[in-house]
Amino acid sequence: MKTYHVNEEGYYGGFGGAYIPEILYKTVEHLKESYRPILESETLKNEYSTLLKDYVGRPSPLYYARRLSEKYGCKLYLKREDLNHTGAHKINNAIGQILLARQMGKTRIIAETGAGQHGVATATVCALMNMPCRIYMGATDVKRQHVNVERMKMLGAEVYPVESGNKTLKDATNEAIRDWCCHPQDTFYIIGSTVGPHPYPDLVARLQSVISQEIKAQLQEKEGRDYPDYLMACVGGGSNAAGTIFHYIDDERVKIYLGEAGGHGVDSGETAATIHCGSLGIIHGSRTLVMQNEDGQIIEPYSLSAGLDYPGIGPLHAHLAREHRATVLAVNDDEALRAAFELTRLEGIIPALESAHALGMLPRIKFRKDDVVVLTVSGRGDKDLDTYLAHRNDEGIQR
Ligand SMILES: *Cc1c(COP(=O)(O)O)cnc(C)c1O
Repeated sequence: MKTYHVNEEGYYGGFGGAYIPEILYKTVEHLKESYRPILESETLKNEYSTLLKDYVGRPSPLYYARRLSEKYGCKLYLKREDLNHTGAHKINNAIGQILLARQMGKTRIIAETGAGQHGVATATVCALMNMPCRIYMGATDVKRQHVNVERMKMLGAEVYPVESGNKTLKDATNEAIRDWCCHPQDTFYIIGSTVGPHPYPDLVARLQSVISQEIKAQLQEKEGRDYPDYLMACVGGGSNAAGTIFHYIDDERVKIYLGEAGGHGVDSGETAATIHCGSLGIIHGSRTLVMQNEDGQIIEPYSLSAGLDYPGIGPLHAHLAREHRATVLAVNDDEALRAAFELTRLEGIIPALESAHALGMLPRIKFRKDDVVVLTVSGRGDKDLDTYLAHRNDEGIQR
């Protein structure tokens, strides 16, 4: 049977693999051999599901959005990852990886973060498990994301400002990999999205797949069938989307729509729409689409949403787009803002600006009245309030 999941060699079609320095070879091999057996062991499954239930607050509700459904002429359900502890889906992955790290005998955690969301999730689980942790963060981002920096420190993490390059996510990632190279024995690198060398994209997708596992059961209960007609999610690196579609990837009855960050527009030069604008390259140890110039230098991505401006994309998503299994739409800043205000006013839910890029696809799709649509709200909007306030009077989004 045709499958879109990862193959034995760690590839999704022509994307993926593990392009890593020699010195990490053994460490990554060890992870590659360990992750499936450990994730599938009874001990880990029990610990993981107990924490997801009692600590994160899962299952997250599948909420029938009545007014939004009326507006878009379909049966629209929202998968509420915004209701998780720490306010987004990232905690699902962070908990899974720290349990895996412990099983593998690792004693120290490192992570990279851009906007700080993955840093906060990692610092949270390190506090929970009493593990020392260092978070690499570009110095520019440290200034921009002050509140998340304070949060990480309060949780006991060491935040390490990175002064190289543009001092943003890519530079933080390089520095985290450098640290990993120096301490491959005792250190576990918790990657925050479906990116990085194999097996990370598959590991993260599996840890987030609880989202589609729950959708199946919840749709069965609400609709009498366990699959929707449409699945929709935003993509930065691709983890909330991967979780949303995981159990439906090979089910062609289900249409997949992914919203990437258009920024000021795909032709504006100020965009984070990697699938639209990227070309084949290697980033973060993976062969995938990359925002780069002719010399292979990374082009700094732009999006109003700090969580979506990653210059690469998960290899799974590059493959789904290339094979036309998924439709990828670039949703611009103004469309996302409009969608965020709309959800707030119609349903009383303030979404993360990242999640608003999934909502921003709704006006572009022609639904039929009885189409069942599931859209993942990846996080809540508290962290984006300053941005929303600054833009509330922009043309077109005034209420
Ligand atoms: C980090 C983040 C994203 C983007 O990451 P993915 O790996 O693409 O899911 C989306 N939404 C929220 C709320 C985030 O914090």
